[in-house]
Amino acid sequence: MLVIACPNCGPRNDNEFSFGGEVIPRPSVDTDPGTWRRYLYMRANASGWQRERWFHVSGCRRFLNIERNNVTNEIRVVAEMGRDSG
Ligand SMILES: [Zn+2]
Repeated sequence: MLVIACPNCGPRNDNEFSFGGEVIPRPSVDTDPGTWRRYLYMRANASGWQRERWFHVSGCRRFLNIERNNVTNEIRVVAEMGRDSG
């Protein structure tokens, strides 16, 4: 079980959240199709620390950026991204 310390709601189990995947820098609009394809479909999937996006579905309904070690499930940074529009 993973416990995520939401900045708004406090520590919560990961089953309250929706995983949004790795955070990857978005390329510029006029970049080539190959770069867009890699941005949309390819992930590094490397072991160790990575930045991830999570959504607090059963709580404050805000997006979070998290730095998580995907080997140990240790979390060192949680930053709020904003609220959904729905
Ligand atoms: Zn929350």
